[in-house]
Amino acid sequence: MAGDYYETLGVARDAAESEIKKAYRKLAMQYHPDRNNGDSAAEERFKEVTEAYEVLSDTEKRVQYDQFGRAGMRDAGGFAGFHPDLAEALNIFMRDFGNLGGFDAFFSGGQRSRRASRRGQDVRMGLRISLTEVVTGTTRKVKLRALERCTSCGGTGGRGGSGTETCRTCGGVGEVRRATQSILGRMVSVTVCPACGGEGAVVRNPCEDCRGEGRVRGDRTVEIDIPRGVLDGNYLTLRGQGQAGPRGGTPGDLIVVIEVADDPRFERHGRDLVYDLPISFSQAALGDEFEVPTPREPVRVKVAPGTQEGTVLTVRGRGLPQVDSGPRGDLFVRVHVWTPPNLTREMKELFERLRSVEGEPPSDESFGKRFWDRMKEAFSS
Ligand SMILES: [Zn+2]
Ligand SMILES: [Zn+2]
Repeated sequence: MAGDYYETLGVARDAAESEIKKAYRKLAMQYHPDRNNGDSAAEERFKEVTEAYEVLSDTEKRVQYDQFGRAGMRDAGGFAGFHPDLAEALNIFMRDFGNLGGFDAFFSGGQRSRRASRRGQDVRMGLRISLTEVVTGTTRKVKLRALERCTSCGGTGGRGGSGTETCRTCGGVGEVRRATQSILGRMVSVTVCPACGGEGAVVRNPCEDCRGEGRVRGDRTVEIDIPRGVLDGNYLTLRGQGQAGPRGGTPGDLIVVIEVADDPRFERHGRDLVYDLPISFSQAALGDEFEVPTPREPVRVKVAPGTQEGTVLTVRGRGLPQVDSGPRGDLFVRVHVWTPPNLTREMKELFERLRSVEGEPPSDESFGKRFWDRMKEAFSS
């Protein structure tokens, strides 16, 4: 189901992080498979609310979702949206709520909750694209050096795929209870199991290639699908393309931060572009047609007879697009009347004749209007 994440959780678009957490916790407990005897409709709802929570509870992902909707959640295959399977959804739930006091009592699978997260780390990278690519969208292949699943042991960390054994120190729970005597009496403290680091399992016979880590350093090529309209500071999250998790843990994400390279032809104001067009005296006086560049193909613009220095022409919709089908920016063509620095004898004669007939320039105030006032008019029109 492709409902709005906010609606799925029943929270307002400006809901605080704590409200999102609260709303999710309530829904997740209502639809948790352990409380619904494996009912498939409840399971679906559990996955949906978890998906919404996973995005909205992460500041970066939430910003991206607010800006791009599901298009911003593309994975490596270019599929829009992150859809956790039941195991992932349960992990997410347990990751954030598994350690809350008294909560385990609700569920049969209490052990699962105490284990340390074995998720791999996210990898962040910058990617520079051209202005043309902002308009067209693009696909990039990048080389990534990251931790990969060890193939010798299938990511288990055990030699020849022998895998792990339940930790004897904690009995697989991942934590140990210690009773100490203090002034206040007997106190029981619970700490992460020192033998297994909280995983609940240990590798008895470690794989030689990864030393029991289940992952090794490697190079890989990732194809990144960049939708059109992304601008500086936008980022794309490629699910599961980050560092592999230790011993078969969930991999982290690859977060690609977009940087748009400067294009010397244009000045950028958000999604609007400004292009400076030099024209001659006679073109300004007589009018003419010009070809001006856009990030894609050039367009023709008409300069009317009697055009003044600083005039701004608007070419609608030839600026930068938005990621979704929102309105495109505009291209503003700023006209500059060019004065020839060197005159030939013939030009000089013609200009002298012109001077004798052209009359005085006007002296009204509109002429002194500042350039930026004109730009402001153009932007707000
Ligand atoms: Zn290995
Ligand atoms: Zn242990």
